[in-house]
Amino acid sequence: MKGFIFFVFLCTSSILAAQDSLQLSLMGRPVTVYFSGAPQSPVMLYNMHDNENTSAIAGRIVSKKYGGEYFELMHEGKRLISFQYGEDSIHIDPNRIYTDCGIWTQLEKNKITDTMVFKTIQSWRNSLLSILDVSSRELVIALHNNTNQHYSYKSYMPGEEFELEAAALHKGSLNDKDDFYFVTDPHIMDQLSQGRYNIILQANNTMTDDGSLSVYCAQLGIPYVNVEAQYNRLMRQMKMLIYVFQQLMHKE
Ligand SMILES: [Zn+2]
Repeated sequence: MKGFIFFVFLCTSSILAAQDSLQLSLMGRPVTVYFSGAPQSPVMLYNMHDNENTSAIAGRIVSKKYGGEYFELMHEGKRLISFQYGEDSIHIDPNRIYTDCGIWTQLEKNKITDTMVFKTIQSWRNSLLSILDVSSRELVIALHNNTNQHYSYKSYMPGEEFELEAAALHKGSLNDKDDFYFVTDPHIMDQLSQGRYNIILQANNTMTDDGSLSVYCAQLGIPYVNVEAQYNRLMRQMKMLIYVFQQLMHKE
């Protein structure tokens, strides 16, 4: 245990030395874009939900050793980004804004029809995409956490809520439905299916345009993998992420 803590301390202290950040306010709400690692790397790692800290720690530690450019959105430690609009608050999911359709769906949830609000979020989104430089990447790695018994690999199985969003499923030998890869490319699925983890292949031709990063990447043909694990399973999530580097980027 002591050795592990020292290892984390070493990693954390060296990451702090290499970090940088910038501010990208959304309608007056401060949002920090933290980044570290190799600028313009072919691989981008990205944690956008500010309450999913296990995935953020995994991303910071693994990218330090295996490479890639790591990004993280910081906004009050919550999943949603909230800001004032007149007397009301608007709540936006930072994983539902990468397409215009997704932004409108978010505004509908907030009962907002104001085109100026749409344009403000759209412009913020465009700035974010340009910082992330998503369209130049050879591989986009999203990092997420989920809660036990809610959204999981099972959500994509026949008869479940997101059945139609999956083109194929691969059941790994590690029998835990909360930990899985969600990918946009059959080739990535083939390579990762040699491992022990569950995999969902997005149905790129029939998917719902909910504005998520996986939809945006599929529309642009950018290879995408979400490394998703239950909260607090840091070692599991790090191993899953390392396996992505080993299989897809041929790292040892
Ligand atoms: Zn998430």
